[in-house]
Amino acid sequence: MYNSKAAGSVELTMDLIRERIAQNLALVEQRLAGACDRSGRKRTDITLVAVSKTRSPEEILAAYACGVRHFGENRVEELQAKVAALSRLWSAEQPEWHMIGHLQSRKAREAAALCDMLHSLDSLALAGKLDRQASQRALPLPVLVECNVSHEMSKYGFSAWDPDAWPTLAVELGRLVESAHLSVRGLMTMAPIVAEPHDARQYFSRLRGLREFLRQAVPGIGWHELSMGMTDDYEVAIEEGATMVRIGRAIFN
Ligand SMILES: *Cc1c(COP(=O)(O)O)cnc(C)c1O
Repeated sequence: MYNSKAAGSVELTMDLIRERIAQNLALVEQRLAGACDRSGRKRTDITLVAVSKTRSPEEILAAYACGVRHFGENRVEELQAKVAALSRLWSAEQPEWHMIGHLQSRKAREAAALCDMLHSLDSLALAGKLDRQASQRALPLPVLVECNVSHEMSKYGFSAWDPDAWPTLAVELGRLVESAHLSVRGLMTMAPIVAEPHDARQYFSRLRGLREFLRQAVPGIGWHELSMGMTDDYEVAIEEGATMVRIGRAIFN
């Protein structure tokens, strides 16, 4: 039997979720605008990726209702489940799904089929697997090369903290030109956890330096995107040239 009381409380919960996320997003947008002003950049040149890992379909729909069109997930199984659960619920255009976490090679097939951009290309072996799987797609899979610019051994990504080693890295990354079904769009990094956002600046600036270097050294690839900056440091990342910020807690908490 239809339970109107329960239905009413579901609606109330949805309203509360939407209100919370709308307020959070308004604050994030205000800060994005401030960082753009300080650095002479345009808001429209920056893609906001709402990191929806561990968040419910209701929370994702609420963010979508507020205008968010890019979502980030870090596990393939979770991405699969969410794409399936939400596929018929979008009121307008489909959002884009970004895979931002380390991808195991054996999940390359699912990732290549489901995501619209992979931010975490962290080895040439993975590139090879993804390239084969992406041949099934109508268009090449957009990817970003994840770089470790902070020398933390726990991090995934190509070693890129030492500019003296960039020429060797460029030779390695030059091989991505052969991946016909991948479209390399730029670089991604995660800054270390630091006490003050300002302390992350050197890592963002290093990633931008690497992009300038690769533009010269590997001209066959379009090195436009810089995916850097999360809840604690996205304003500094924008000041240092981020074109994509990946924000979770500031939107969904
Ligand atoms: C979780 C995650 C984020 C978002 O982190 P917040 O601090 O919640 O903004 C961004 N990038 C990656 C790779 C993540 O795993």
